Amino acid sequence: MRGYTKMNALEFLYFPYTHSLLMGAVWGVVVGALYWLLKKDKRGAVIVGLCVLSHWFFDLVVHTADLPLTPFSDYKAGFGLWNYVVVTMIVETLIFLTGTYIYATFTKAKNKSGKWGLWTLVTFLLAFSFYNTFAPPPPDSVTILFYSLIILMGVIIGLAYWVDRNREVAQVRDITI
Ligand SMILES: [Zn+2]
Repeated sequence: MRGYTKMNALEFLYFPYTHSLLMGAVWGVVVGALYWLLKKDKRGAVIVGLCVLSHWFFDLVVHTADLPLTPFSDYKAGFGLWNYVVVTMIVETLIFLTGTYIYATFTKAKNKSGKWGLWTLVTFLLAFSFYNTFAPPPPDSVTILFYSLIILMGVIIGLAYWVDRNREVAQVRDITI
């Protein structure tokens, strides 16, 4: 729906299974458990699970009041930051750069791909986010929207995976904060 919020043309009508607080916790546990099964790393699993859950709390800031607490409740939350374009851009960019800073500090490139790949990914994500803000709303066709999202996610996740393979955890002595 065009102009549903000033930031985002998409109106989210029904998404209790991805975007309720309760299901956020459930997905966090599921993804954390999968991570543990694959890596046998308890601390990593907890962190991955919390990252999944954090999605709801970041969404809480930007969404209009359309985020349910559980799939069964009528109460919906959301502070609606997406109605303030400039503030949203500043806040979202700051959060993104903070995450980038943490990742770039606590990992180090094993080779050139690890170095330039990371900055390619960061530039791509920033450019895409600006494009998304100022470009005309996406086509009304749900099918086109769906497939473009799948392709986009594939590119981002593939690139992120490749970058991460070419980086390693930085030794404490390498970290300068
Ligand atoms: Zn969301």
